[in-house]
Amino acid sequence: MYKYAGIIINNEASQVDKIFTYKISDIMLSDIALGQRVKVPFGLGNKFIDGYVLELYEHIEENYKMKYIKEICDKFTVLTNEDITLIKKMKEKYICTYLECIKLFLPKGITKGMKQKTSSFVFINNKLSLKYSKNPYKAIYEFIEANNGTYTKSELSKKFDFSLSSINTLIKNDVLKAEDKILNRFNSKVYEAYEEKVLNTIQEAAISRITTSKKNKFLIHGITGSGKTEIYMKLVSLMIKENKESIILVPEIALTPQMVERFKGRFGKDIAVFHSKLSDGERYDEWLRIKNKKVKVAVGARSAIFLPFSNLGLIVIDEEHESSYKSEVSPKYDAVEIGIMKSNILGCKLILGSATPDIKSFYKAKHNEFDLITINERADGAKLPEMTVVDMRQELLSGNKSMFSRSLLFNIEEALNKKEQIILFLNRRGHSTFVSCRECGYVFKCDNCDISLTYHHNSKKLVCHYCGKTMKPLSVCPKCNSKYVKYFGAGTEKIEQEIKLKFKGARTIRMDADTTKRKEDYEKIYESFKNGNADILIGTQMIAKGLDFKNVTLVGVIAADLTLNLPDYRASERTFQLISQVAGRAGRGSKEGKVIIQTYSPENLAIRAAAANDYLGFYDNEISMRKIMEYPPFTKLLLINMGSKKEDELIKYSEKIGLKLKMDLNNFDKIKMLGPCPSVISKIKEVYRWHILLKGEITIELAENIKKSIHEILKSDYNEIRVSLDINPVSLL
Ligand code: ADP
Ligand code: ZN
Ligand code: ZN
Repeated sequence: MYKYAGIIINNEASQVDKIFTYKISDIMLSDIALGQRVKVPFGLGNKFIDGYVLELYEHIEENYKMKYIKEICDKFTVLTNEDITLIKKMKEKYICTYLECIKLFLPKGITKGMKQKTSSFVFINNKLSLKYSKNPYKAIYEFIEANNGTYTKSELSKKFDFSLSSINTLIKNDVLKAEDKILNRFNSKVYEAYEEKVLNTIQEAAISRITTSKKNKFLIHGITGSGKTEIYMKLVSLMIKENKESIILVPEIALTPQMVERFKGRFGKDIAVFHSKLSDGERYDEWLRIKNKKVKVAVGARSAIFLPFSNLGLIVIDEEHESSYKSEVSPKYDAVEIGIMKSNILGCKLILGSATPDIKSFYKAKHNEFDLITINERADGAKLPEMTVVDMRQELLSGNKSMFSRSLLFNIEEALNKKEQIILFLNRRGHSTFVSCRECGYVFKCDNCDISLTYHHNSKKLVCHYCGKTMKPLSVCPKCNSKYVKYFGAGTEKIEQEIKLKFKGARTIRMDADTTKRKEDYEKIYESFKNGNADILIGTQMIAKGLDFKNVTLVGVIAADLTLNLPDYRASERTFQLISQVAGRAGRGSKEGKVIIQTYSPENLAIRAAAANDYLGFYDNEISMRKIMEYPPFTKLLLINMGSKKEDELIKYSEKIGLKLKMDLNNFDKIKMLGPCPSVISKIKEVYRWHILLKGEITIELAENIKKSIHEILKSDYNEIRVSLDINPVSLL
């Protein structure tokens, strides 16, 4: 019999991030269970507060006066034993608090005491007696008879003009009755049926490998259109047959409407859809629907990986290389890593799918951590588009100073004449600006880190955001002596203006952060372009994902260099992935597609490999670079972000923390510390930002110690410095 419980208190302060022991009163002994939400007295005032039971003990040394649990809150446990195992691992891995982890598993509504929404509906209770056999009673009775339990009292009087007092009279006399019914807040829209396809032999082979293999983690490396989605759906239906549940993760629900359409179309309304745009009520209802075993499948963005299924058999992570699987707030988890941990804990199958797998994932597949399944053919027989790389340095030499190459202009003209559609893609991100020579393509980089230097307008200096090294930009190219050294950085707006000048009468539409501020904007632009209301779609990476427009025959990548020169060790990988993805937007219909990639570094391997559809070639080169430069997967990174509204204080404390860590790390020769230095985006919303980057064999203990050191420095002096730790950050922005 358990007499004591280890409890995490629902309080954000980091001092209470530990397991507190409480006594279980005799009347609660038979009901208490791991994963329950309970109310406990806490603090000096013994205020009652929510807590979560993470541990149970039979005996304990009672060396202080222990408090009793006050009550158990819900009829169900909010966490399973496996969730608790995962929470404990996550806390260590992501250097965060228990509570931050627990919150990922619960909808807000639970702690807010939310209830399912109910309304009172009118039903028939008894036969109509003689007394009420005339109108208006007769009419009301007959209407309810035909619509038993469908309408509420107010609906009946408002919509159908029945008198409220007559309805009340009938209820009072037991002819009718009003009863509460649960209203579902989730989307129960019915989608067009999406018929099951007869799988081809490649798809069949993948299915049989996945179902029979002793391994339970798989990476499907299949080109766009190779029929991966059909494989996922087949696996889901096999799971349903075995009474097992499935989670399908997609990068962003709003950007992948097709996936939800297909799953709902195939499996009906009994699919939960989960994403960040749901209201608290919708989220709560969906969560409860899964908890109550009403659905077996969920499609969602990264947070859906924590949904409370009780018999999970399958996790699919589509487009597994996407950075949106990484959380930007604490816990800074990566859904792919959580998928791996869950698969280990539960023994369920994990399927990662991508046309351009994350280098880390492919490395794991090569080293037998995942079973690798490769598909090189399109399922519907469509051809891959023809890709051309244009050397922008040549354009300049020939006197073309515009941002469009002659070849791109020519092809736009031609597509417009044929009434076909065009996508122009500018992979600009954040405020990152690098400096390069337009004549020879030379880019100013840091010697230590092989990372492009970022130009800071305020200080007029070039900064390496890995190690903090700064230099003055030269006005002459150190490689070719050209004076044509420039900052890079055009926006989609500028492109649109130029296109309008060059092609009078062409209808353009823009999709970027500015034009998609509201929830429905994205869909509007998408529909408008799909319906042919514009000839040219100009956009940022937003347009790179899953869009399927049959009439698009030309895709132009305006400046491949923009991602290539991000201050990030994954810049090449990002470039390869982005080019491959946008290229996949061309020629999806019966017409053949063309892709034109403009760049100042046509010899770059990421660009060449992307243009040649050569993932393996790209991987081999990239993995050897990572090894030489000591970047993941060969080492770990720990990014320490610091922010404050007061710049002086921030700099002072960043340096203090830097010094302390340097001393702490003195004995660890396998760890390098870079910085402190200003972040790439050195100020966001009045908050100045600095960071320190650690590189090397960062163990869980070391990370914990670093966290403690930082707390010690900050706690004693100042509390306006916000610090966050990120193990294996996806970017340094
Ligand atoms: P991916 O997810 O790999 O990009 P999809 O599953 O979307 O590929 O398939 C690409 C296209 O091929 C879709 O239009 C799909 O309907 C079609 N398709 C997939 N599998 C088959 C099949 N076995 N027979 C016929 N068409 C298929
Ligand atoms: Zn030059
Ligand atoms: Zn550097």
